[in-house]
Amino acid sequence: MNFIFLGPQASGKGTQAILLSKKLSTPHISTGDIFREAIKKGDELGKTLQSYIEAGNLVPDDLTNKTIEKRLRENDIKNGFILDGFPRTIDQAEFLDKIIQINKVIDIQISDKEAVHRISSRRSCACGKTYNLLYNPPKKENICDLCGAELFVRSDDKPESVKIRLETYHQKTKPLVDYYKEKNILITIDGERPIETIYEDIINKISK
Ligand SMILES: [Zn+2]
Repeated sequence: MNFIFLGPQASGKGTQAILLSKKLSTPHISTGDIFREAIKKGDELGKTLQSYIEAGNLVPDDLTNKTIEKRLRENDIKNGFILDGFPRTIDQAEFLDKIIQINKVIDIQISDKEAVHRISSRRSCACGKTYNLLYNPPKKENICDLCGAELFVRSDDKPESVKIRLETYHQKTKPLVDYYKEKNILITIDGERPIETIYEDIINKISK
């Protein structure tokens, strides 16, 4: 089966996508991971991607579509896959429909207020370690457990950037909910519950 996970930033969709990917032994394809990998390389593509992401904007459709098309040509997706972070616009969804069939779309819903609360609780360290004051705070206040450096709020976790991302989500990604509802493949999940409860709910609903 081929799955898509939908949901705003901090909805926990990445966590759930990874859990499902382990259970089904199918690849978890995250555009965020693919983009971060490219940014780390620091080449022309990486720099272009970084400029969009840091401003809280979506990476343009043609760039994202090309990246995903290339990934979906690999052999490991034969028995299914889980897409996380794609599609994010109707144009991307239509592009995807042309290259492959999607069986289920899992929409994890949280309120804007909850999203802002979760994201503004994130802290990062220059060494790469990340924390969330709500779920995994550092042992000493504002100090990295691993390297002892002072923690900071990443530029795309700052309220201005989060607000832009949520606005973009409502404008461009929310219409996908109706798009997949019309195709009768949408599953709606309440994301404001414990991780295990959400996971069980997903397993229940996809096996129906
Ligand atoms: Zn550190």
